[in-house]
Amino acid sequence: MPSEPTPRVLPESGRPAGELLAELARLKTADLPVRGGQVTAYVYDTGRAEIHDLASRAYLEMLEVNGLDPTAFPSIVALERQVLGAVTERLGGGSGIFTSGGTESIMLAVKAARDARPIEGRPQIVVPVTVHPAFHKAAHYLGMDIVSVPVDTTTYRADAKAMASAMTSRTVLVVASAPSYPHGVIDPVTDIAAAAAEAGVLCHVDACVGGWMLPWLRESGRAVPPFDLSVPGVTSLSCDLHKYGYAPKGASVILFRDESLRRHAYFASAEWPGYTVINSTVQSSKTAGPLGAAWATMMAIGAQGYRDLASGAMQAAERLMAGVADIPGLRVLGTPDAPLVAVASDDPQLDVFVIADEARARGWFFQPQLSYEGSPANVHFTLTGVSLAGVEALLQALNESAKAARDAGPTEVPAELTDALATLDLEDLDDEGFAGLLGSVGVGLGDGGQPEMAVVNAILNALPPSTREELLVRFLSALYSGHV
Ligand SMILES: *Cc1c(COP(=O)(O)O)cnc(C)c1O
Repeated sequence: MPSEPTPRVLPESGRPAGELLAELARLKTADLPVRGGQVTAYVYDTGRAEIHDLASRAYLEMLEVNGLDPTAFPSIVALERQVLGAVTERLGGGSGIFTSGGTESIMLAVKAARDARPIEGRPQIVVPVTVHPAFHKAAHYLGMDIVSVPVDTTTYRADAKAMASAMTSRTVLVVASAPSYPHGVIDPVTDIAAAAAEAGVLCHVDACVGGWMLPWLRESGRAVPPFDLSVPGVTSLSCDLHKYGYAPKGASVILFRDESLRRHAYFASAEWPGYTVINSTVQSSKTAGPLGAAWATMMAIGAQGYRDLASGAMQAAERLMAGVADIPGLRVLGTPDAPLVAVASDDPQLDVFVIADEARARGWFFQPQLSYEGSPANVHFTLTGVSLAGVEALLQALNESAKAARDAGPTEVPAELTDALATLDLEDLDDEGFAGLLGSVGVGLGDGGQPEMAVVNAILNALPPSTREELLVRFLSALYSGHV
């Protein structure tokens, strides 16, 4: 669709408000829809429009309040205390911090662990291979090492014994997920936390995706193993409110077993002649919008609302899993404890990345996940409050996409191409050259401005993780430079 040219530089005189808002709306037409349940990743929809409308009004109400200084803006302390009170009540207590997302919560948990018990040499974190990359990112930013431990390749749960054996004198933190994002399974938190406690090491539970789902499933009568701060040995826990809390993005909490550990997440600096700096988060100046919106969303939904939303999402997941069992060649990986379902193919003719592209052409987004350490390539579904109403349509889309993908056959990536990419020295190539290289192997933007992802995913899937990372960085840079 041709759109009016966007000025690349600041206009000399300001443009009219109506024109600017219309341009935002026009730009968004190329985006995936954020409501309606046809995008089964990234977005969390209650299916109740009034909740999301309230959240955007609350966000705007708090937009210009600066979270930098809680003494200047006491409203943020009052709101944060209420939000944390609601979360600690359901997740085994503790002292918390409201953050901008799971990654920031994890960054603070890792920093607190590093600083709470300093060790000789480079501190190290022991994680299962299924752990979220936010831990790799935190270790990278904070000068620490990751020790990645294989999981059981049938259940995809962390192996508590193997994690216990992986700890060394440099280990400052051990991590379990409740559940892990890729397969939706809960790690053996009790065993991992006990092993950590015995070794005198802190233990973090990554409940970013499950923290505001699992308590409600349990209260609705489902069996949920212990996973929160009530488990002996668990010393911190992250829970994203912008996932199953259904708050707009920019909302998560990190809970610490006690206030002394929380203090190690804080940062103060008096090393300059300016205003006093005391931050509870990575961000310093920040909008209070997400806090106001998360608070309003939680108070408007309430406990019964969350129980209903959680039950609905889990029922949708169960219906999806039953439906997948009826589609030849497809199977669910592991047994999800939460409404996160990974679907893989056992049939070489049936390529899951082609399924994802076929689904996209039918108006659905299924999230591709690459093969890694015993987990085969798959498509991931995050079911939310809105999913149950549309689960039959979802299954129909999956069925039709699988048929079309079988007819189309798998994407073949010539071995010479992956060999060439794996050994290519990218140092001498600038972003434009890199984009040209992508085009020459058939990777580019299709008619709808969407890259043909099956080819991209097939190539990445055939490469080792370090090469995948290098190519992804090059792709992002070329994308923002406007070359792809
Ligand atoms: C989403 C997620 C994260 C990271 O959260 P962001 O909000 O995207 O920064 C970490 N861990 C798990 C298990 C997640 O699902």
